[in-house]
Amino acid sequence: MSTGHLTIDLDALVANWRALDAKTNCETAAVIKADGYGLGSGKVASALAKAGARKFFVAVAEEGAAVRQALGEGPEINVFSGHMRGDTDMIGDLGLTPMLNSIDQVTRHLEALPGHAFGLQLDTGMNRLGMEWDEWAAIAQLALAQRPTLVMSHLACADEPDHPMNAYQLDVFHQMTDGISTPRSLAATGGILLGKDYHFDLCRPGVGLYGGLPFTEARDVVRMDLPVIQIRSLEEGEVVGYGNSWQCKRPSKIATVSAGYADGIIRAMSGKATFWHEDTPCPLVGRVSMDLITVDVTDLRETPQALTFLGPQQGVDDLANAAGTIGYEILTSLGGRYSRRYKGA
Ligand SMILES: *Cc1c(COP(=O)(O)O)cnc(C)c1O
Repeated sequence: MSTGHLTIDLDALVANWRALDAKTNCETAAVIKADGYGLGSGKVASALAKAGARKFFVAVAEEGAAVRQALGEGPEINVFSGHMRGDTDMIGDLGLTPMLNSIDQVTRHLEALPGHAFGLQLDTGMNRLGMEWDEWAAIAQLALAQRPTLVMSHLACADEPDHPMNAYQLDVFHQMTDGISTPRSLAATGGILLGKDYHFDLCRPGVGLYGGLPFTEARDVVRMDLPVIQIRSLEEGEVVGYGNSWQCKRPSKIATVSAGYADGIIRAMSGKATFWHEDTPCPLVGRVSMDLITVDVTDLRETPQALTFLGPQQGVDDLANAAGTIGYEILTSLGGRYSRRYKGA
């Protein structure tokens, strides 16, 4: 087998969901957009539903299809992008709950699917999704009379606990929603960690479930092992890979590994990231190419069949740091070529 291999630990995923849930006194949903942050939204949703999660969030209506198929009827599948033109059949047929972002969307939804569940998304300063003050003032009474499931907003700086934007957005959210009887939600992973003022009635963690920062106590969920296709011996001074970008300073053994930027091993990791064979670090050398990576295995005594890129020695955020990015991007870039094995749950 020559594709990269992901082992996804559903017990760790469930443990992360429970640990985040235990930090609040409110309901905890699960954000499973972008195919469950790259790990498989159907499998992730099923494991969390079994553990007790009843509410899920996806980015766009299309993502709701795989999740509804995995979960069957019952659990709530919410759509952050709301009710877009052309979404009506999907929302209706799959029983999705759009988080409506504008007066246009509210109008579209109430006309196309009267009586169908919906939530409302407010902008409290991030300026990305949701209704602003004037829109909200114009439509709040009418929209709330239709008994939405949720009124929500999103924090821009929740991964920086001391950032003044957090308290500012909290205050705006209070001003926009105090006194209404609809359940409210403000916190994703970062917001949960900011404390109970941010929790309201429902929290919506994503990245923390999958082992990513800012949830420092998270258990690792994904392990990545990449097969070694061949190993060659180089003399001092020989070069490796496109652009001759690495030259060996000692006689070296170079393993060619089957994966590349087509698998989310981004080019910015060239010359910076590290593979592991059990406890021995093996530096990535030369340039990452589309389907292949070259690794210095000179220090290994045995001949490896595979090398580990995500695992106990190196988590998602360690790898992200090496590449100058964040864990979210590592996870959501993984792509469709891996074989995925699910264990636990
Ligand atoms: C992605 C997203 C979340 C989950 O955020 P994490 O930082 O991954 O926990 C929650 N709410 C909204 C609106 C989002 O876009």
